[in-house]
Amino acid sequence: MHCVILGNGITGITAARTIRKNTDHEITVISGETDYFFSRTALMYVYMGHMKFEHIQPYENWFWEKNKINLKKAWVKTIDTNNKNLLLDNNESISYDKLLIATGAKSNKFGWPGQDLKGVQGLYSYQDLLELEENTHQGINRGVIVGGGLIGIEMAEMLHSRHYPVTFLVRESNYWNNVLPEQESKMISNHIREHGFDLKLGVTLKEIKGDANGKVKSVITNTHEEIPCNVVGLTAGVSPNIDLIKQTDIQTDRGVVINYHMHTNVEDIFAAGDCAQFQHALPDRKVVEQVWYTGKLQGECAALNMIGKKTLYDPGFWYNSAKFLDIEYQTYGTVMPKLREGEKEFYWQHADGKKCMHFVYKESDHLFIGINVFGIRLRHAVFNRWLKEKRTIEYVLENLKAANFEPEFFSTCEEEIIAQWNAETKNNIQLKNKKSLIKMIFN
Ligand SMILES: Cc1cc2nc3c(=O)[nH]c(=O)nc-3n(C[C@H](O)[C@H](O)[C@H](O)COP(=O)(O)OP(=O)(O)OC[C@H]3O[C@@H](n4cnc5c(N)ncnc54)[C@H](O)[C@@H]3O)c2cc1C
Repeated sequence: MHCVILGNGITGITAARTIRKNTDHEITVISGETDYFFSRTALMYVYMGHMKFEHIQPYENWFWEKNKINLKKAWVKTIDTNNKNLLLDNNESISYDKLLIATGAKSNKFGWPGQDLKGVQGLYSYQDLLELEENTHQGINRGVIVGGGLIGIEMAEMLHSRHYPVTFLVRESNYWNNVLPEQESKMISNHIREHGFDLKLGVTLKEIKGDANGKVKSVITNTHEEIPCNVVGLTAGVSPNIDLIKQTDIQTDRGVVINYHMHTNVEDIFAAGDCAQFQHALPDRKVVEQVWYTGKLQGECAALNMIGKKTLYDPGFWYNSAKFLDIEYQTYGTVMPKLREGEKEFYWQHADGKKCMHFVYKESDHLFIGINVFGIRLRHAVFNRWLKEKRTIEYVLENLKAANFEPEFFSTCEEEIIAQWNAETKNNIQLKNKKSLIKMIFN
């Protein structure tokens, strides 16, 4: 049997490895982007000079041949679902028995005048990284980043690392407050400004102006301000990369539509990762989820179904992590930007304005629902277990030391957190001591 995987990102590669672990099937992975799989999340560190591109390739180059995974560097031009055949841009054709579509996402462009000028770009692919090098190699006077999400701040930090002034246009009234609650969003907005970025909140892009050579020279905002610049980063989100799929009889909506066995409407064709959209959402989840760990989980699940091991996708509890300049961020469970009916919150922020924890729990029985944590690293496995065991907020607070990654640095924070909880709720819970927790951590 020939399993063909379209896309060599985390989703496609996890699928290829899962098929290899379980079968002797022939496997071909096709991607037009790069010869080998790389960690997209680490692209920024290559530009910033912390790593070479080879360092963000998680496997040695010999790994693929040794594991009999054929790699093909080409763009797929058409998919013929009747004859189970792919046509590549080099006119080669490849037939498949089972096909996985794992084509990822692409940067959003909203039809702004001037969006195709030289110097205007997104940050998603290896080619985008090369383009940014080219757009900045002679130095720039200013970069303007449009869109205040996770990729926007990365791109701002990349330019900042080379000492280029950066203006950040963010539509929301505080940075990323369409995802973060107001408290965290304000804290991060302050942090961005402290780093010297010109953060413009509640401001959107109206137009990008070019010079006689077709190169960007300025942007015009909705407030009629003209900002001279040489680079514009379009980072207003990403959307599933499905232009190719739309030319076929495979059902698409925002993404390639799949069921919870990762199967499309066409026999023997599966989809997973950033390009995929579930037919309906699970509780507290979205139909399109575009993060690294869901790509990994979906790739594994798709592979098992491709080889006939019927497996239902189980995303577990939501988690994510990122870094906003110097501040690390983690989230476990569900913390919405605004509390939902029946939810209560407990927010603690350190006096330095760089650390906080935001707990959400159910008002009726105090069931712990989720946490956002900034500036302190907490253990994913411990929170996952507490969510699974349906612990109360009091239990979580009393046992906070068990989740702490760096107890020697943050032990005072835990005492402060408990004291604040007791003061606010007129309660008297006590932090469990470290010794009694050791058993629990290793359980
Ligand atoms: C700058 C950046 C930072 C990020 N940081 C984080 C983070 O901190 N945490 C996190 O959880 N997530 C992060 N993400 C998101 C995460 O990287 C993605 O969710 C994940 O990489 C998606 O994996 P994928 O395999 O589904 O798709 P992709 O990695 O996009 O892989 C798809 C591949 O298919 C190829 N392809 C598409 N069409 C064709 C075609 N027609 N022919 C041939 N090849 C094709 C593409 O070129 C690409 O190589 C970040 C993303 C970016 C861009």
